[in-house]
Amino acid sequence: EMKIKVGLFGSGGVGKSTIAIRFSKDIFVEDYDPTIEDEYKKENDLNNKKILFYILDTAPQEEHYDPFPRYVQYTDIFVLIYSITYKRSFEDIKYFNERIKRILDIEDKDYPKILIGNKSDLTMKREVSIKQGKELAKKLNCKFIETSAKTGENINQLFYETILLEIER
Ligand code: GDP
Ligand code: MG
Repeated sequence: EMKIKVGLFGSGGVGKSTIAIRFSKDIFVEDYDPTIEDEYKKENDLNNKKILFYILDTAPQEEHYDPFPRYVQYTDIFVLIYSITYKRSFEDIKYFNERIKRILDIEDKDYPKILIGNKSDLTMKREVSIKQGKELAKKLNCKFIETSAKTGENINQLFYETILLEIER
């Protein structure tokens, strides 16, 4: 059995909760409380091997308490998520990457991560191109996938990639 602790990071509204719920329960939620932090467990089989995912759905900072450092300490595989419909969330990825590195106390060293452009179904509202996503992933030295928690596109692929990262770790 393999246990993988996956942390979902990214600005508010990019679809962290929706991705966690889509993968663990195979449903699409339209309106989920943005302040809720939760851990989802999901068991999968891959080539007769049991994979147990622990998925941390992170919540924003509160007035008197910032849970971010605790999220980083919990996580083994980092999923950095932006929305292709919101340029600002794409720019925020650099900030998340820097903060994670600082908390892990690594400067030039790398950590296991994947870059996700979510909401790929909303092509009419696209603000970030696939090319921009790929370029950022190259800078961050990680893989890049566009997903849709609404249609389910590439959601399994996302978590499959976390298995590969866990094996390398
Ligand atoms: P979080 O703050 O990162 O946890 O974002 P949420 O998971 O709460 O999602 C914010 C909103 O975007 C919700 O209304 C979701 O239903 C919606 N959403 C999330 N993922 C997708 C997606 O892939 N496609 C579309 N069309 N909407 C999405
Ligand atoms: Mg949320």
